[in-house]
Amino acid sequence: PVEVTASPLRSAGSVRGAVVVFRDVSERREVERIKDEFVSVVSHELRTPLTSIRGALGLLDSGVLDRSSEQAERMVHIALTSSERLGRLVDDILDVERMDAGTTELELAEHRVDALVDAALEQVSIMADEAGVALRSEPSREVLRVDGERIVQTLTNLVSNAVKFSPRGGVVTVATGPVGDLVELRVDDEGRGIPPDKLEAVFRRFEQVDASDARERGGTGLGLAIARSIVERHGGRVWAVSEGDGRGSSFRLTLPRVPATRRDAAAPETPD
Ligand code: ADP
Repeated sequence: PVEVTASPLRSAGSVRGAVVVFRDVSERREVERIKDEFVSVVSHELRTPLTSIRGALGLLDSGVLDRSSEQAERMVHIALTSSERLGRLVDDILDVERMDAGTTELELAEHRVDALVDAALEQVSIMADEAGVALRSEPSREVLRVDGERIVQTLTNLVSNAVKFSPRGGVVTVATGPVGDLVELRVDDEGRGIPPDKLEAVFRRFEQVDASDARERGGTGLGLAIARSIVERHGGRVWAVSEGDGRGSSFRLTLPRVPATRRDAAAPETPD
């Protein structure tokens, strides 16, 4: 689609010519379409837990249930878990919007990969214990120049996904290695895997392999979209590798590496 605007060129009151501008607006329309779609998906996603909350509270309010009955207790539980879900959705929606709009400044500093990985594993450890999944990490001497909090958030998301989709007794491994000017981090699991045609889709907002994934496993469907946004803001990449069919998944990301010779004086002394 092309937008055409014309304006007359006047000189001493009379028209001497015209300026005609042709503008290709397909890109702008595409941006608008994506925004519209996001707004409609967001309202649907927000309305689902809201409907549960209203239903549960409405039933309690109507007086048809005995307040101390098991059914009433169930309604309170539904209202509570749905409001928690609503809260997580609002947080994640704001997060993905701010990250993409670039309004969140990154606080770049040098961080040892080991410290970032340990922080993420610690956050997931209780969940992993409950799921009977072992967390492993390979030691690394690499140093990154990144926003530490944001990268821990990203790794926490990848590791908690790996745990969520692992069978009891499964192992989740975080490994690191240098690749040129970058460090590659890998989060591998032995879970159900991701079908090849969904490997890219899972990074899109609210996109899931199974429609029930987010609700059943407590996610929002925004984690990987946020992770991608964070990694790309750092100039890195994040992608998934899997053969599907229960053969596990591997999430990989690259981030800017700080060679030993160029580390800040304050950075930890680790040989390269
Ligand atoms: P959610 O909050 O639903 O986990 P994400 O954006 O983090 O949202 O993930 C999107 C979807 O990608 C998940 O719902 C799931 O279908 C799929 N997925 C993510 N990580 C894995 C994994 N390690 N193994 C299998 N499927 C995964």
